[in-house]
Amino acid sequence: MSKSLENLYSETRQFPPPEALAAEANVKAEAYERAAADRIGFWEEQARRLTWSKQWDQAVDWSNPPFAKWFLGGELNVAYNCVDRHVEAGHGDKVAIHWVGEPEDDTRTVTYNDLLKSVSQAANALTELGVTAGDRVAIYLPMIPEAAVAMLACARIGALHSVVFGGFSVDALSTRIQDADAKLVITADGGYRRGKPSALKPTVDEAVAQCPSIEHVLVVRRTGQDVTWGEKDLWWHDTVEQASPEHTPQAFDSEHPLFILYTSGTTGKPKGILHTTGGYLTQVSYTHNAVFDLKPETDVYWCTADIGWVTGHSYIVYGPLSNGATQVMYEGTPDTPHKGRFWDIVDKYKVSIMYTAPTLIRTMMKWGDDIPAKYDLSSLRVLGSVGEPINPEAWMWYRENVGREKSPIVDTWWQTETGGIMISPLPGVTASKPGSAMTPLPGVSADVVDDTAEPVPNGGGGFLVLTEPWPSMLRTIWGDDKRFIDTYWSRFGAGAASQPAPGPSDGAENQNRSAAQGHGDKWIYFAGDGAKKDDDGDLWLLGRVDDVMLVSGHNISTTEVESALVSHPSVAEAAVVGATDPTTGQAIVAFTIPRGNVDTAGDAGEELIKELRNHVAKKLGPIAKPRQIMLVPELPKTRSGKIMRRLLKDVAEHRSLGDVTTLQDSAVMELISSGMKDRKSED
Ligand code: ATP
Ligand code: MG
Repeated sequence: MSKSLENLYSETRQFPPPEALAAEANVKAEAYERAAADRIGFWEEQARRLTWSKQWDQAVDWSNPPFAKWFLGGELNVAYNCVDRHVEAGHGDKVAIHWVGEPEDDTRTVTYNDLLKSVSQAANALTELGVTAGDRVAIYLPMIPEAAVAMLACARIGALHSVVFGGFSVDALSTRIQDADAKLVITADGGYRRGKPSALKPTVDEAVAQCPSIEHVLVVRRTGQDVTWGEKDLWWHDTVEQASPEHTPQAFDSEHPLFILYTSGTTGKPKGILHTTGGYLTQVSYTHNAVFDLKPETDVYWCTADIGWVTGHSYIVYGPLSNGATQVMYEGTPDTPHKGRFWDIVDKYKVSIMYTAPTLIRTMMKWGDDIPAKYDLSSLRVLGSVGEPINPEAWMWYRENVGREKSPIVDTWWQTETGGIMISPLPGVTASKPGSAMTPLPGVSADVVDDTAEPVPNGGGGFLVLTEPWPSMLRTIWGDDKRFIDTYWSRFGAGAASQPAPGPSDGAENQNRSAAQGHGDKWIYFAGDGAKKDDDGDLWLLGRVDDVMLVSGHNISTTEVESALVSHPSVAEAAVVGATDPTTGQAIVAFTIPRGNVDTAGDAGEELIKELRNHVAKKLGPIAKPRQIMLVPELPKTRSGKIMRRLLKDVAEHRSLGDVTTLQDSAVMELISSGMKDRKSED
């Protein structure tokens, strides 16, 4: 990508916060000024949300960038903060987790008392098995309460967890176990997916055979299906549930490592992101309270992410539990046994805050408005989105069909690497725009810069960067400081200037190093995402810079073309890539999923394609008119539901496919490739 990104999409709708919510909001407009006046002091104020066994001496040490330390000298126990202190405050009978299994009527209610008992027992059992502070524990579980218990038990004894998504293969699991050198795996016989038990244990058996570091495998009985039993295997109910429920938490240093989590793998080889204790918990606790306006006494919160992703770590386990929230946790898929399952759960538990992903919202759009319309949904008061840019039309659909035009939407931008939310509206302050993440949260410093690290003016597009350290920032890539520096810190600012020659490249992440000094000689974190500032200076995420298309000398973001397509009433979802083109350098190729009720057979499909190409040209200008549009039933997505554009690019350029290990469903690619061969260029 050269100089900067085009700004083609314009959006004029804007929705102020509901008055009643604004009046009672946890965080008000003054927080922005307070944080700007004393950023470090503001973070110290947030750290005081937690219970520290020993007060910190120094808020931040940034003397050895890019290696940050926060709340130096402070000590705390994360599990104590998420569990014990709520019980001590008299909230032991309060529900922590309303657990909903996929089979209907398979539910559990977990109070903070229950959680304290289970976490203490698990901490004792892990200790008994020889796990001590600093050891690594792999967790490979379905969405059951034991997943949260296992994570908290690790945190309680200072062991690092590495949660691996329960849908991953033997290879993905074993490479992650080996990379972290874990000594224990916590798993289950299986979990329920799409209406039937889906086994986990056989995958673990195969993986463990390749992982000599593993001493024990702890197995939760969830489905009751048959399992092969080996020497290292222990049942959770024979060990954890027999252990003493008394456990005294020990305080750990603020910089003690808390967990390793591998990124989603959208762009290639996943990175083992390391997070530590005090700064991480401070930021997830603060952001969960501020962004969702959580009122722990009355709200019922539900984050639909899997525990295997960072969203599950920060906004199912550590953020909500540190805040004493009551939440719903759901095991299964959104269409089991029927496509209204989510809305059923919202009504049954009176969910008031819902946090989900654009991929789900677009799927619901595809299924049709009539499904949510059958439900009450009046308990909802704040809606959140994370994981990808949310197309303005998907945002509007969410607002109208789920929020019933009364709930503010918070589009939250952040990454595994940032640990917590960085850019988002505040529901009681911000007048939001559909599709915009709006502004950095109080305490966060972000900017959009051009390739010389100069901030772009309002109306301009470029690279999203973070210009000051933040408490929940990653501390490194596990075992690979060099990759950490190369990937995130070597493109702009002091990190670029201090590198005389490009080192070994980490894929496309590390090209076009720039030694320019747009933000003085600061260390600047490059997120890998493109973004623009609109005329008011509000931020719009434009997708990964690796995906940006260069069409006749213009840098065009995939997001804007996708949003233009989704703004057509016949389209539910779209993915756009730049394919090599003899005349324009790259040409825009779009893969489009029509909404459920749209006829695409024969001529109707051809007509729709023509109409869509013109629609994009009208919305964004002729430069963005796709060369080719394919109507497809599905798109290739990662296990966390993000579109994998690089695979579509392989298809569009008639290459064999790159790494597909993080792909959700490999049959999708065959479907798309065979459709591609049938069609010629549309011009
Ligand atoms: P990998 O780094 O291995 O390719 P990944 O980037 O998909 O995987 P995550 O850390 O889960 O792994 O995702 C973070 C990325 O998701 C962001 O960098 C951004 O591209 C995208 N993202 C997350 N939230 C938003 C949002 N609200 N708006 C736009 N993009 C978002
Ligand atoms: Mg990433």
